[in-house]
Amino acid sequence: MEYKDYYQILGVDRNTSEGDIRSAYRKLARKFHPDVNPGNPDAETRFKELNEAYQVLSDAEKRKKYDQFGKDWERYQQTTRTTRGRQEPDFARWYTGSSGGFTTENVADDGGAFSDFFRTLFGNAGGRRTATTSEARVRMERGMDLEQEVEITLEEAFHGTTRVLQMQNEVPCPECGGVGIRQSQLCDTCRGRGTSLDDRRLEVKIPAGVSDGSRVRISAKGGPGTGGAAAGDLYLRVRIKPHRQFRLEGASVRVDIPVDLYTCILGGEVAVPTPSGRTLALTIPPGTQNQKAFRLRGQGMPSLQSPSRRGDLYATVVVQLPVQISEQQRALFEQLRDLESPGTTAGAA
Ligand SMILES: [Zn+2]
Repeated sequence: MEYKDYYQILGVDRNTSEGDIRSAYRKLARKFHPDVNPGNPDAETRFKELNEAYQVLSDAEKRKKYDQFGKDWERYQQTTRTTRGRQEPDFARWYTGSSGGFTTENVADDGGAFSDFFRTLFGNAGGRRTATTSEARVRMERGMDLEQEVEITLEEAFHGTTRVLQMQNEVPCPECGGVGIRQSQLCDTCRGRGTSLDDRRLEVKIPAGVSDGSRVRISAKGGPGTGGAAAGDLYLRVRIKPHRQFRLEGASVRVDIPVDLYTCILGGEVAVPTPSGRTLALTIPPGTQNQKAFRLRGQGMPSLQSPSRRGDLYATVVVQLPVQISEQQRALFEQLRDLESPGTTAGAA
């Protein structure tokens, strides 16, 4: 019988956590899965070894027994070398004696899914006595947190909105609980992969006042848990599309207001769009300079915590100069200039 180094098979060291063992197994199982290596007996062998190693190392009880066995094995090899020469050891009997722990009376045909080594250590498929309990007991594991990006408009961020998400998650196979093996055969449902795909349509609410880049947590809508454990959470990462008019600065909003020359000079009323969709009238005083910003208090974006509180809106004046002027306007502008600075016009002196 050949000693199997399950840690080496999974490419992990002896102190590796259960979670890392699981991910090491997943990675290798995908690589050597018969589906992706058709007609490749080496891959099939590797795949069986991986499943066997994973079944032992992912189970705290089996792992402990295996670790203990590794020490006994070394000791045994040393004793046989000195006292018995190079005899093939009847390890099953020896080990039964040393631990008093298990029997191998039920080594029926298991389809070759497990090595002699495994059957010696754990009996057929982990031992009939423990198989019923370990297969019935799916491990309690909280579902994964998932993250999904959603893009919304500024208006949607203002009022709040909903989205219907099409979700496809890789979840632990419900038949085998993610082990990939049932009754010592590759699981029929997931074909040994240990995972299955779960399709869901989910309507989610995006609250008013979300900011660009913020994460909205939707409780218990992530990956499902196993063995009755809670589902993970779903996080929506919100992107707000650039707006043709408004620029966001946190809860503050900036907007440019085109204002004609005469209103800037003489003062008057201008219309200011706001992110709520309403238009406000803003009175600007005479002599308003280009790029002057007016603060409209409480007309910005709502606060996520209390939507009735809103940031401010800054309306920046952008003076619109006349592009084409009539002969009469030209004469009048010349007169205005002469009033401002008499004597600068050619021929006026
Ligand atoms: Zn399965």
